[in-house]
Amino acid sequence: FVIGLGYGGSVVKLQDFAAQLTVLSYGAQLINELKDAGELPEADHDAEFRDASVEFRDVTFGYGGADRDALTGVTFHAAPRTITALVGPSGAGKSTVARLICRFFDAREGAVLVGGTDVKEIPFSQLMRHVSFVFQETFLFDDTVEANLRLARPDATDAELEAACRAARAHEFVTALPDGYRSRIGQHGSRLSGGELQRLAIARTLLKGTEIVVLDEATAFVDPENEVALQAAIDTLVTDRTVIIIAHRLSTIAGADQILVVDDGRITERGRHEDLISADGLYADMWRAFQSTERIALGEAVHKADP
Ligand code: ADP
Ligand code: MG
Repeated sequence: FVIGLGYGGSVVKLQDFAAQLTVLSYGAQLINELKDAGELPEADHDAEFRDASVEFRDVTFGYGGADRDALTGVTFHAAPRTITALVGPSGAGKSTVARLICRFFDAREGAVLVGGTDVKEIPFSQLMRHVSFVFQETFLFDDTVEANLRLARPDATDAELEAACRAARAHEFVTALPDGYRSRIGQHGSRLSGGELQRLAIARTLLKGTEIVVLDEATAFVDPENEVALQAAIDTLVTDRTVIIIAHRLSTIAGADQILVVDDGRITERGRHEDLISADGLYADMWRAFQSTERIALGEAVHKADP
């Protein structure tokens, strides 16, 4: 059993992991990659990994069957230990950027580089040692909290598990479960809110401790108490790492080293918050909408007019 988690706090049990992945449109490629990662022996040598940078060089990509490209000529460089925030209207291509970094799909043209090497040349298992992702649909297995966390690092000590959960603001609600860290998520999952489940996923990512983190932030409403805790967990997660974040929160966006505005598959604006406010383009529009609603999913705040 696999539990697919939505941000709305819904917990959906599915019989079949592959089916769940397909439902979530992650594509057959990921399933093949997972199979490869599990069934093939480790590559006999790793690709070069120079630093914790992520780079897109003129990347164009279209989903199979789609009549238009999801990304066109996307170029950016995320330096080690910096935060790159992707913002833009719904359907602009933000999640597609994230999926390409994790090789759920490969660029049709151009190249995606991680650690200075084309991801196509990095064995999937090696890539996963350097990159973690926390997607909107996060996977937790119908097993104990502990087992779910140890997926990230089987040899983690109990103290390390607890430290990760404290940092992700998950320790308190985990210890409040009937069997604490030994509670089965499948049994008690329905009692955990979407925000709590997300914090568990963040704890797992902290435990994995990769230098690069790709994060597709929540758009759905989380109750105020969870919101504060989730923000704290995300703040911890993004410290001292290379972070590519699809951001909807004020603090994450304004504090990013680089903001990329994605619109219709292209990067239309880039820079720091102040630069983009001065430029008075789409970002400035979105920002005003964001402020006027206090807390709204930034990507959904502005819908492009039909051409
Ligand atoms: P965003 O994250 O900015 O909302 P996405 O990257 O999810 O946008 O989507 C970009 C475009 O690609 C959209 O037009 C979307 O409909 C399309 N798309 C996303 N996923 C798939 C898929 N699995 N198959 C076909 N088209 C997709
Ligand atoms: Mg998205």
